[in-house]
Amino acid sequence: MRDILVAGNWKMNGDAARNSELLAGILAGVPVSDRVRLLVCPPFPYLAAVAEQIADSPVELGAQTVSEHPSGAFTGEISAAMLRNVGCSYVLVGHSERRSLFGESSDAVAAKFSAALEGGLRPILCVGETLAEREAGETRIVIDRQLNAVLERVGIAGFGTAVVAYEPVWAIGTGLTATPEQAQDLHRHIRSILAAHDADVAETILILYGGSVKGDNAAGLFSMPDIDGGLIGGASLKASDFLAIATVAASL
Ligand code: PEP
Repeated sequence: MRDILVAGNWKMNGDAARNSELLAGILAGVPVSDRVRLLVCPPFPYLAAVAEQIADSPVELGAQTVSEHPSGAFTGEISAAMLRNVGCSYVLVGHSERRSLFGESSDAVAAKFSAALEGGLRPILCVGETLAEREAGETRIVIDRQLNAVLERVGIAGFGTAVVAYEPVWAIGTGLTATPEQAQDLHRHIRSILAAHDADVAETILILYGGSVKGDNAAGLFSMPDIDGGLIGGASLKASDFLAIATVAASL
């Protein structure tokens, strides 16, 4: 049976005091479970402080994006090695906000995925369709394109330590959630694409669902056979909301 990963994407929110309070709340209520793993992804400036606060706890640390370059004259960029150096184990790549607001192409996402692996991080590859793409019947085409760009770059072996997050763009921050059946359908599709390359990788990789996950819809989603947890935006900013999701995960 696969683990359940509950990952909080704090986006560009918080400050030193609020982060510390949020983490203290989370650390006080981490559910006891052999199967549930918790991850927080704060903004860059707070990574080191968060790493210190979660040391000796089961909560893991991730970043929200990474440079595709290992080092050099790339003003403003942050490398995978730097993220490792301050205690990150994971990094999000290809979040829909990076793709739509910052113009990250699937090729750029693939380069970041590769850089994350080379720097010793576990990439969390975000894929998902917009509402227009879903309504045009293109959901699978979009997901295939986003996944294949990374497969072509790193091969299936590159997914050995990675995580995939299926996040329908129309469900992110909107309060709309894919039904468990809709999400399961796409999760199974993603796993089957990976299985065509390597059955073992497909069987063990965690595929998270993201898009307005809350304590009251997590059980239906996480009970699905191919949904291995959630990537949580809004509900990761309040300890009680995040813990409600983690507690549901621990009860399954
Ligand atoms: C996200 O940004 O990855 C996300 C899933 O956000 P929310 O939970 O707020 O929909």
